[in-house]
Amino acid sequence: MHTFVFGLTLFFGLAVTLLASAQGTSIQQKVIILLGPPGAGKGTQAVRLSKELGLPHISSGDLLRENVSKGTDLGKKAKTYMDAGQLVPDSLVLDMLWDRVSKPDSAKGYLLDGMPRTIPQAKAIDEHLANAQLIVLNLDVDDNVLVKRLLSRVSESGAKRSDDQPEVIQNRLKVYHEQTKPLISYYQQKGVLKTVNGDETPDNVFKSLLNAYKEQAK
Ligand code: AMP
Repeated sequence: MHTFVFGLTLFFGLAVTLLASAQGTSIQQKVIILLGPPGAGKGTQAVRLSKELGLPHISSGDLLRENVSKGTDLGKKAKTYMDAGQLVPDSLVLDMLWDRVSKPDSAKGYLLDGMPRTIPQAKAIDEHLANAQLIVLNLDVDDNVLVKRLLSRVSESGAKRSDDQPEVIQNRLKVYHEQTKPLISYYQQKGVLKTVNGDETPDNVFKSLLNAYKEQAK
């Protein structure tokens, strides 16, 4: 009798374990990329979206600023580029990203804010994520609105960020148009992009982003 009960327990235990691991492997990792020019509201929206979807928010700008303030090797290399409103070299930000996404909290997926910023970065991410579902949400905001928003951030906050200076702002926009905007057609061609009007109230932008996410994630 004892052997029978033991056998039965073992059988069900094994069945439950197999079922759980099968379910685990069938859940596809979701990687959301929030695209948009500086001042489009990516940071604010990324925080809300990541809470709503239960995925970690990975901001390349925040990670770089953390490295700068800790005085790491990466921070020392990145600072000059950041202060000038230039992009940090691809290899540096990519290594930083691989390091961050290897943490256990990223297994189910994550939300990228501020990354990729160049076509080579996008290609490297594509290769790295061969099996993940990629969802790209693009925040569209007119340049005039962006400049006004970024300048008011300078006067309201007293430019907490060293790159929130009027002359650097213009450079960040120029760099966006030259190096990051081509990502819109790159992802459009892959059929993974949804564009949302970012010139609305933050609540409305959030609703549109969530709807766009749900449509793409189906
Ligand atoms: P952000 O907070 O996203 O506006 O980023 C601030 C600055 O960090 C940028 O102006 C760049 O100098 C640098 N940076 C952030 N993300 C990237 C990236 N993906 N590639 C290159 N540089 C980046």
